[in-house]
Amino acid sequence: MLVVMQSNASEEQVREVCKRIEQLGLRAHPIPGSLRTAIGITGNNGALDLGVLASLPGVAECIPVSKPYKLVSRDAKAEDTIVRISAPAGEVAFGGGMIGLVGGPCAIESRDQAFRIANVVAKTGTRLFRGGAYKPRTSPYSFQGLGEDGLKILSAVREQFGLGIVTEAVDHDSLDLVERHADVIQIGARNMQNFSLLKRAGRSKKPVLLKRGISATLDEFLMAAEYILSEGNYQVILCERGVRTFSDYSRNTLDISIVPAVQRRSHLPIVVDPSHAAGVRHKVLALSRAAIAVGADGLLIEVHHDPERALSDGMQSILPDEFQKLTEEAKQIAEVIHKKTN
Ligand code: PEP
Ligand code: MN
Repeated sequence: MLVVMQSNASEEQVREVCKRIEQLGLRAHPIPGSLRTAIGITGNNGALDLGVLASLPGVAECIPVSKPYKLVSRDAKAEDTIVRISAPAGEVAFGGGMIGLVGGPCAIESRDQAFRIANVVAKTGTRLFRGGAYKPRTSPYSFQGLGEDGLKILSAVREQFGLGIVTEAVDHDSLDLVERHADVIQIGARNMQNFSLLKRAGRSKKPVLLKRGISATLDEFLMAAEYILSEGNYQVILCERGVRTFSDYSRNTLDISIVPAVQRRSHLPIVVDPSHAAGVRHKVLALSRAAIAVGADGLLIEVHHDPERALSDGMQSILPDEFQKLTEEAKQIAEVIHKKTN
């Protein structure tokens, strides 16, 4: 159920409606829009008659939401959500015509490696740096990340280069730590349906970058985001990173058509990670161009100065000069569709 307030409803009236909803043992999610505020209701198992809310002062109408996802839906909020990350070097916006760029290595390997790549990323004007301190690896024998030491290196990168930090949490313990060091918490593809981790991320004050599961449908992807919003965190950026198909020439298949599909159903921004889709360096620039052209709200790119020796995902990591070219082309393509990279 969605309570739509009148355009001239006062803040006091919105608060009163929220109070009544909470008194019924439910959770109220006020969602301010440019024209009016809507209030999403969660925790309703269908047994309650919420018709009483329609007669409260300031209420325009109560709409039953038939879709499984509620808070992420455009029914709850018609206009785009713009997720703004305040990096020390300046704000980076995702959504509403702003395309956020993020670059960095798959994993933080050492202070020297992180600083060299951060220097490359910062020089292109990109203000968000992504690198994993906790790596969810298919094999238990592969490099698992530096853990808390990696987070400390990321904090030093933030301090030295003014870059905002995006890094992955793989479980509750790592999320507690990641939350302290990062500007954006990444939830990886393998954890897209780790519901307890999603709920924990939903209780965080930090924005969340949620990657699509390896074989997740559109509804499953949006429902995973719904878990985060339903706990009160509305700062969610979705990420398409390729799905598993019969294709045998690519690590994954980049499903760029999910971008307009998501944007039709949801107000949340959606970015594209062409690196994990391609699995090889030479496809990353071409797929990035396609992602911007299709309307993605951002790009997540793996970059390494010495990919042959990288401890993870070296084959798909692009070189510093390729990253420079990519950010320039992304800017140009964005202008054609009246958007801006940042
Ligand atoms: C990563 O971002 O390095 C990663 C492991 O990605 P994904 O969760 O999309 O596989
Ligand atoms: Mn990776």
